[in-house]
Amino acid sequence: MIAVAVVGAKGRMGSTVVDAVNDAEDTRLSHTIDHGQDIAQITPGNTDVAVEFTVPSASLDNVLALVDQGVNVVVGTTGWDEDRLAKVREVLERPEHRNQCVFVAPNFAISAVLADHFAAQAARYFESAEIIEMHHPDKIYAHSGTALNTAHAIAKARRDAGLGAMPDGTRSDAGSRGQVVEGVHVHAVRLRGLNAHEEILFGNPGEQLVIRSDCFDRGSFMQGVLLAVRQVASGRYTCLLYTSPSPRDR
Ligand code: NAP
Repeated sequence: MIAVAVVGAKGRMGSTVVDAVNDAEDTRLSHTIDHGQDIAQITPGNTDVAVEFTVPSASLDNVLALVDQGVNVVVGTTGWDEDRLAKVREVLERPEHRNQCVFVAPNFAISAVLADHFAAQAARYFESAEIIEMHHPDKIYAHSGTALNTAHAIAKARRDAGLGAMPDGTRSDAGSRGQVVEGVHVHAVRLRGLNAHEEILFGNPGEQLVIRSDCFDRGSFMQGVLLAVRQVASGRYTCLLYTSPSPRDR
């Protein structure tokens, strides 16, 4: 059994992780920590992997504290830029932490991660690519981090393949062509009834490819979280892992 601690356990994601850990046959809950509780309770003596879903302002300190205590971490909290990742990487490279792993994934939905991966593979073969991200109207930010990640992945693949700018003869003063991220147009829809959806459209003369990911509820993230927990607990990785593309690759 893999002993899993959850940090941010009373939150929407944290409480869903608690249920997933309790339900899975190969994991058991070792500790739950929320705001105001002492993270030092989580140690390698009681926990194989800590799962962290809190708030961007607390996440880096939580992860550094856990690493310092000798604990492996799977991180789902958003807001991880290259500066934050570099701080964790630097600590993991110290001799006393060489056997530890931190896995950061801004989106644990397997469909979204694969959509990104497939989009990066497809990008070099198409003249045009655009992204439509669709979310429930209570989402605070537009655009979604996932859509931005996809846009960067497409842009990098196009750069690597030596492709130039996409054909776009449109004049628009009204912002109706969406946000342009490294040359990739990203459109945001906010609609009651939706949860988290992304469509990546590729076009060539006479053909089109559409890659679509649909996440209907928070359960969509749990398979990815448990997969990450199992991989980290296996001891196969002793480094900082980030679902591709990492901010460093952009
Ligand atoms: P939430 O419902 O607000 O939960 C956050 C929890 O963390 C709350 O219980 C909060 O307590 C607690 N917390 C705050 N500071 C803490 C600290 N220093 N130590 C321990 N616990 C602390 O938010 P959520 O919807 O679960 O989302 C959590 C994070 O996951 C967000 O960054 C969100 O964007 C991200 N997310 C990631 C994925 C993914 O696939 N990677 C998917 C969905 C969401 P208080 O409320 O008392 O402050």
